[in-house]
Amino acid sequence: MAWDFSTEPEFAEKLEWMEEFVRGEIIPLEVLDLDAAAFERATAPLKEEVKARGLWAAHLPPELGGGGFGQVRLGLMHEILGQCVYAPPVFGNNAPDSGNAELLALGATVEQKKQWLEPLLDGRLRSAFSMTEPGAGADPTLLATRAERDGDEYVINGHKWFTSNGSVADFLIVMCVTNPDVHPYAGSSMILVPADATGITVHRPLSVFGYDDAPHGHMDITLENVRVPVSNMLLGEGRGFEIAQGRLGPGRIHHCMRLIGLAERALELMSKRTLQRVAFGKPIAAHGVTQERIAEARIMIEQARLLTLKAAYMMDTVGNKGARGEIAMIKVVAPNIACQIIDWAIQAHGAGGVSDDFPLAYAYAHARTLRLADGPDEVHRNAIAKLELSRYA
Ligand SMILES: Cc1cc2nc3c(=O)[nH]c(=O)nc-3n(C[C@H](O)[C@H](O)[C@H](O)COP(=O)(O)OP(=O)(O)OC[C@H]3O[C@@H](n4cnc5c(N)ncnc54)[C@H](O)[C@@H]3O)c2cc1C
Repeated sequence: MAWDFSTEPEFAEKLEWMEEFVRGEIIPLEVLDLDAAAFERATAPLKEEVKARGLWAAHLPPELGGGGFGQVRLGLMHEILGQCVYAPPVFGNNAPDSGNAELLALGATVEQKKQWLEPLLDGRLRSAFSMTEPGAGADPTLLATRAERDGDEYVINGHKWFTSNGSVADFLIVMCVTNPDVHPYAGSSMILVPADATGITVHRPLSVFGYDDAPHGHMDITLENVRVPVSNMLLGEGRGFEIAQGRLGPGRIHHCMRLIGLAERALELMSKRTLQRVAFGKPIAAHGVTQERIAEARIMIEQARLLTLKAAYMMDTVGNKGARGEIAMIKVVAPNIACQIIDWAIQAHGAGGVSDDFPLAYAYAHARTLRLADGPDEVHRNAIAKLELSRYA
């Protein structure tokens, strides 16, 4: 029977180990005030353990050291990692390095892989993805950053913002216009740009609800007559949108399952808190409104989880194109249910919920950004409606 919701025992064992490891070794780090260097020191032995288990950068193809797990299994793994913001880096799949590694795996030449991808996977280099500009986000056909060929080099000029990792990255993958005379789908390209190239200025981190997301940050960057060799072009001139599609497909499933893991953690925190804390003569959990919210949260998580796993299953069986409707749906559903459930959990914690004494305020800020950062809800809804209408037009 093909409709099977079970997990095979060998893989279930891996998931069990991950769950114990995240809860026992990684979540406890949340209460420590770690700067970037201390975080690296604290997590170095944990990373070794993950590598020894064959679970490091599991999203990559097997030839690059990934597990070849397929999207359903990866989804289940990311659900566990989503419980704690520290977990993805310990497992070698922190954004944006993980998406950039997938992109390079798809679009880089053998030489480019040697120069950029291998050290990225070893943790010797860090990367950033520079697409969004102050004047172009949801609609990337409006991008204005320009790369002009001059002999064996491209000369790049433009203004990018919200480049995550921009302050620590060793290289940027910059989306720019190489031919303004054709449609942007055919005239845009992605180019590898060393972060220390002359003409690059990192101006400031853009805050997210007041968090600076240090140390990686979301940077405001200008490129002024930045010169790179033509060999830094990815896949070929005019193929930028093609690469963007490849990057944005699988990564989204992982984001969505992480959000479901985050929603699950918020529900757990809400349940534990409301069982312990008393108001007006009884535990807050005994008030009808709390039970209503807890029940609703459980229903929302189960619905979102099934839809996300269905999208993953379709990616595994019919490919990204055949799954595009489901992918668009989960991109709307997952951040929205996570925001609602985290919001209820914050409410149940009272003032403490909006402070950084609990992980909820930061979790909310993070989940809310994903209603934008992975493409605004409205754009995904447009895509879903177009697919639906095309069945009857
Ligand atoms: C925390 C964070 C990290 C990010 N990291 C990166 C990064 O590393 N690299 C990078 O390149 N970018 C990054 N981004 C930027 C992100 O990709 C953009 O925010 C996103 O593409 C939306 O673009 P915009 O913000 O310019 O919104 P706009 O394009 O200005 O859209 C604003 C609003 O207009 C409405 N809208 C837009 N299109 C439609 C439509 N078709 N129908 C109806 N309404 C519509 C929506 O309400 C939308 O929210 C990041 C963003 C955040 C918040």
